[in-house]
Amino acid sequence: MMNKEEIYAALGLTASDIEGGNLAVQTPIDGSEIANVTMDTPAEAKAKIAQSVEAFKAWRNVPAPRRGELVRILGNILREKKEALGALVTLECGKIYQEGLGEVQEMIDICDFAVGQSRMLHGLTIVSERPLHKMREIWQPLGPVGIISAFNFPVAVWSWNTCLALVCGNSVIWKPSEKTPVTALACQKLFEMACAEFGDDAPENLSIILTGERDIGEILVSDERVPLISATGSSAMGKIVGQNVAARFGKSILELGGNNAIIVSKDADLDLAYQGIVFGSVGTCGQRCTTTRRLFIHEDVYDEIVPRIKKAFAGVSIGNPLDEATLMGPLIDEDSFNNMENALKVAKENGGVITGGGRSMADEYPGGYYVNPALVEMDGTDANVKTETFAPILYAFKYTDLEDAIHRQNDVPQGLSSAIFTKNMLEAETFTSEFGSDCGIANVNIGTSGAEIGGAFGGEKETGGGRESGSDAWRGYMRRMTSTTNYSTELPLAQGIKFDAE
Ligand code: NAD
Repeated sequence: MMNKEEIYAALGLTASDIEGGNLAVQTPIDGSEIANVTMDTPAEAKAKIAQSVEAFKAWRNVPAPRRGELVRILGNILREKKEALGALVTLECGKIYQEGLGEVQEMIDICDFAVGQSRMLHGLTIVSERPLHKMREIWQPLGPVGIISAFNFPVAVWSWNTCLALVCGNSVIWKPSEKTPVTALACQKLFEMACAEFGDDAPENLSIILTGERDIGEILVSDERVPLISATGSSAMGKIVGQNVAARFGKSILELGGNNAIIVSKDADLDLAYQGIVFGSVGTCGQRCTTTRRLFIHEDVYDEIVPRIKKAFAGVSIGNPLDEATLMGPLIDEDSFNNMENALKVAKENGGVITGGGRSMADEYPGGYYVNPALVEMDGTDANVKTETFAPILYAFKYTDLEDAIHRQNDVPQGLSSAIFTKNMLEAETFTSEFGSDCGIANVNIGTSGAEIGGAFGGEKETGGGRESGSDAWRGYMRRMTSTTNYSTELPLAQGIKFDAE
């Protein structure tokens, strides 16, 4: 495994990037400082937005398949730098190395997807009601795209947005989480390498980083020169950002909090369900938007699967995420730990029976917040938990009827990911029907956590309604133009309207 200096060197980060700044970055591994980066001032942020507007004006003229070529080169560089960037993700946000690598793989996958998409930015042709007329839809570049991202996917979210935004002809301005600015600076280095190889068609400032906290994000959000804001983070953040963008009639893609549930039917393959539940709840230390937070288990199989989950939670290998044997790394910081403690206190007050929880390895890592995963069993036919705590807490509820389990699963403000484990086709089809799950993601015999880039990713209700990544999410990064051409010598009006100006 590379050490910090080797990682920085491999990614082209130099002392001027990571030293002498005013934003200290701590690794969640042990709380030690790994960098001190320089934040943009509000004036610098505004100047960078102006630069992005200029970059857009040049980039939109480059043919889309040629724009795809830049993304193809970026994908190749990511393949070369996968280990270094994966390790940096681990160092800066604390997810285990396998998941750090997985995140970079997701970047590579979206590059491949976007390269193909660059030849498929096509619109419809539509028959006209008027003789000798043709109608068509033309998809146009939008402008600078503002990206705001969360700490827990410090690089993949940028690439989902950037790769599509670029092939669509847009420039990009990224405000990464203040907890993970170093991975962002590394991505910028890799992007610059790609531009250098690509040549002069890529204008300067095609992708720009705004380093800073919430105030810098607010500048991006309120700037009318940025027609689209794609914001990933908590629902509390999205509520403010969504309203501020709407107030200036901007577009937004909001990817916010989740409160994801798995339904375990009496007809489930319990081995499969068990694997899906354990990965979904303790993976990334419970810090994925798609983490499994709630379980609705049929009463007939409850006593069979719950003890297995408790055993897995008690035995999961917790430790330094750079160590390949570790399955669960630390929480991002002390605040996160306090949130977990508070949520468990509330669960207890509400009658929950808790197994696990509490801090782990405090002696070895006094500055790192390692925790034991917690299972909370809650009785009652209407038991539920409606808030997202970004930590490895899994709430287990019993159910009798599938209809009731689906109702309780949906009866929360969030609507990101959901799953059912069942071998019963009627149950599986019910779950994905119009009266089934109300989430953006509804899986059968797969857990809630993670997704392939080929599908549109996102969720409903307080998750924000945005869609990113695959399917036709690219359209969110473009302007739809409807164009009618008249190739006759008359000027018939639509709807048969007569208007004789003579
Ligand atoms: P957060 O909301 O604290 O911060 C996210 C980003 O928003 C940061 O860059 C922050 O600086 C910025 N920000 C905060 N307030 C802002 C404002 N008023 N204007 C502009 N920018 C602002 O989230 P976090 O703690 O970094 O991440 C965890 C949350 O993100 C969880 O709720 C998780 O579910 C969610 N998340 C969602 C997805 C998804 O795709 N749905 C993916 C990853 C994380």
